[in-house]
Amino acid sequence: MAQDFDAIVIGAGMSGMYQLYRLRELGLSVRVLEAGTNVGGTWYWNRYPGARFDSESYSYQFSFSKDLLNEWDWSEHFAGQPETLRYLNRVADKFDLRKDIQFNSRVKSAHYQEASKAWLTTTENGDTYTSRFLITAVGPLSAFTMPNIPGVETFQGESCHTARWPHEPVSFEGKRIAVIGTGATGVQTIQEVAKTAKTLTVFQRTPNWCTPLHNSKIDKPEMENIRANYDAMFKTCMETFSCFLHTPDPRNTFDTTKEERLAFYEELYASPGFGIWVGNFKDMLTNREANAEISNFVADKIRQRVKDQTTAEKLIPKNHGFGTRRVPMETKYYEVYNQPNVRLIDILETPIERITPHGLKTSAEEFEFDMIIFATGFDAITGAFDRIDIRGVDGVRLKDRWKHGPETYLGMTVDGFPNMLMLVGPHMALGNIPRTIEFNVEWVSNLVHYAKTHGLARVEPTPADVQAWTDHVKALADGSMVFEVNSWMTGYNSNVEGKQVRIVNRYSGSAPDWRAKCNEVAARGYKEMVAA
Ligand code: NAP
Repeated sequence: MAQDFDAIVIGAGMSGMYQLYRLRELGLSVRVLEAGTNVGGTWYWNRYPGARFDSESYSYQFSFSKDLLNEWDWSEHFAGQPETLRYLNRVADKFDLRKDIQFNSRVKSAHYQEASKAWLTTTENGDTYTSRFLITAVGPLSAFTMPNIPGVETFQGESCHTARWPHEPVSFEGKRIAVIGTGATGVQTIQEVAKTAKTLTVFQRTPNWCTPLHNSKIDKPEMENIRANYDAMFKTCMETFSCFLHTPDPRNTFDTTKEERLAFYEELYASPGFGIWVGNFKDMLTNREANAEISNFVADKIRQRVKDQTTAEKLIPKNHGFGTRRVPMETKYYEVYNQPNVRLIDILETPIERITPHGLKTSAEEFEFDMIIFATGFDAITGAFDRIDIRGVDGVRLKDRWKHGPETYLGMTVDGFPNMLMLVGPHMALGNIPRTIEFNVEWVSNLVHYAKTHGLARVEPTPADVQAWTDHVKALADGSMVFEVNSWMTGYNSNVEGKQVRIVNRYSGSAPDWRAKCNEVAARGYKEMVAA
């Protein structure tokens, strides 16, 4: 017998946790279904060595509770994963969230039932739930992907994908270790493993442009200062392009002299966090010459930091410009390649042919390892949706509907999928995600509240609005160099069938613009949403 709730929320990461809190405040009955054994989502699963924030800790936390803000001190400007997970557990304790979360419950399917205008959700355990609203809080980077390398299942040593890292400590001491993948996760992992591994062999397919994080500790007086400034800081985050404390410089690159430019790049390179990516000249990702300037600057930094120039050249991206993929933030990453225990293998030059029981074989060499770490990323944004059998009106599958890329209204709704509301879904602003999450959750909660108080059983956008929003999101991507490059940010995944094609999966306008549009729709009483 299915249990009935006003809303089922899939996922107990940051968005699912806050959604639960908000809907409960509105007096609704809610059940959160979570595959893991505890809260935290991304920060629950990604406990690989060296995992930490790339956004300033205090700008990433929840802002909705003054009490919570007053109670929690951050120990570092960019906190490590264990601290963030402790924080999220504290949030769950403080607001008694766990009593409405069903852990160890991976959702298998969610089907819309026209007769009852409700969703029927089934977990892999066989539990069933009915609910008027289905709220997806599945995360944009949660469906991890193993590499499609032959023999990957035959390796007999220790091995793990970074997004499934064990809860117990893992020692690298005295071990011969391979890391496959050099995205933001690989870079953080490599820095840490290199400290104690007997040997570390990094298998790199595409090098990324990495820049220094410049993390540092926060002492008590500094924390009090930061706290005193919270209102202004959160206001800044809501005004900047992508909700970070950094925002694009209003100048174009060539408005400046060569000397001014270089001085600005030096300043950004020496500053903490994402400034060099999201606080750079405003034409960095639209003007090719401008992009070449910053790319050459960072390339020179890599050449200066890596002693062996053949290795340095391998670490410098040649097929994409700076900032066109997510910039991994690093702490002495390039210096790792000066260590005698570390070796870089360029697998574009010598491809991996297969993984063997004792290691792996490239076209040039056979390697033996005690451990292989797969830092091979995610089937991003739509991947977590694809893995659930979601069916709307007339049994149409969301996966089929999105076969050629997502189609949404405001990134939160899809026609033909009534009462399904998405948190951090496709086609909405991402950036510094918790800032977007809070807005997203509040907008969804207000809509649910409106539907409930107005006796509306069915909330759904019109096909015309979905088409218009999807076209708008695609038009925004036009001319951006980001959308000319294969990466999770363009939905490309070499390991997933059907995903070796670039799509527009993200909203690339400013977060304030996206919020303004969502606010307009709410102010008009959700007139666009077909309701009956
Ligand atoms: P990713 O950026 O997609 O990187 C995956 C890596 O694995 C790439 O180097 C990729 O090479 C390689 N790879 C994939 N399949 C392969 C195969 N079959 N053979 C060889 N190499 C293969 O994934 P990620 O590093 O996990 O990062 C994803 C995103 O998560 C980041 O961009 C970021 O947004 C987020 N993240 C955030 C933080 C933070 O905030 N602190 C930390 C980590 C991650 P190619 O590039 O050639 O495909």
